[in-house]
Amino acid sequence: MELDLQPLALPGIEPKRPIVIAGPCSAETEEQVITTAKQLVKYGIKIFRAGIWKPRTKPGSFEGVGVEGLPWLKEVQKETGLLVATEVATAKHVYESLKAGIDILWIGARTSANPFAVQEIADALKGVDIPILIKNPVNPDLELWIGGLERINNAGLKRLAVIHRGFSTSDKKIYRNSPQWHIPMELRRRIPNLPIFCDPSHIGGKRELIAPLCQQAMDLGFDGLIIESHCNPDTAWSDAAQQLTPEVLDYMLNLLVIRDTKQTTESIRALRAQIDECDDQIIDILSKRMRICREIGTYKKEHDMTVLQPTRYNEILEKRGAQGSLCEMDADFIKKVFIAIHEESVRQQLDIINK
Ligand code: PEP
Ligand code: MN
Repeated sequence: MELDLQPLALPGIEPKRPIVIAGPCSAETEEQVITTAKQLVKYGIKIFRAGIWKPRTKPGSFEGVGVEGLPWLKEVQKETGLLVATEVATAKHVYESLKAGIDILWIGARTSANPFAVQEIADALKGVDIPILIKNPVNPDLELWIGGLERINNAGLKRLAVIHRGFSTSDKKIYRNSPQWHIPMELRRRIPNLPIFCDPSHIGGKRELIAPLCQQAMDLGFDGLIIESHCNPDTAWSDAAQQLTPEVLDYMLNLLVIRDTKQTTESIRALRAQIDECDDQIIDILSKRMRICREIGTYKKEHDMTVLQPTRYNEILEKRGAQGSLCEMDADFIKKVFIAIHEESVRQQLDIINK
């Protein structure tokens, strides 16, 4: 199905810069909301985010202040002129948000994974003209993501965009949510006029990853960023490790290099992003392998075995060399790689045995 879209018509920080939506993960108190908003507006931010209802993996963690926080967002609009955005997951959230005059709504990753929930939201939005941002479902399923867009579009909403927030995986070594950039890039190919935001906060899960993720998103030609920012991140009631102060956010945004996406190097950038992703996976898998090697090291120590087991070593080199040539790689090259990996494993095991 072809989507019937209209421009989002949202303000950017300045022309030729990405649209930036910033604000705390959750609205916690009126003071925290207003203080953060006032700081952000000082740095030229035009759109404020705050979660009023928080979908949490486990019960018992902070699940949002609920309707009580909606007047705080109205206050933000009144005092700062910022547009305000919040997450909706049910029809009730939609009605309450519309009643409170919220400017932009987003559908979270846990909700977009559920067609019943998205349909309920679409039905509640029928006949309303408001920008809707749909986060990718937690699972890497592009069709489900597009299905969500179609449901909202079928309800007559045309100012749509998506938010790439990464995907759940069982292994979370570097990122909280694995970016899998090829998925939003494929979405861009399929629906070229659909704006794509990147949410580096939920992909990264920690402060130091936010800047490189933003740069990567800009290099891939994303249209905007949605970044968690809190007046006092360390005390945040949710997602404390990934929130930035407005001041740090501003510093980081100013360092971003915005390239001309019309250049023909765009496709090279997309390919390089895929290479980066492969390299991330190589590091993750190597670190998993080393962890297992250390466990074996402990076992060998307890059972008084030698570290080097030559038959096992030869078996690995031969087997992987042959497997490499089946995958169109030089067998000697693969052997070299495994010799290097083995060397590091032995070093780590010796460390354990000599402790
Ligand atoms: C959020 O934006 O605070 C949030 C809950 O994100 P996600 O739905 O991507 O997990
Ligand atoms: Mn969050």
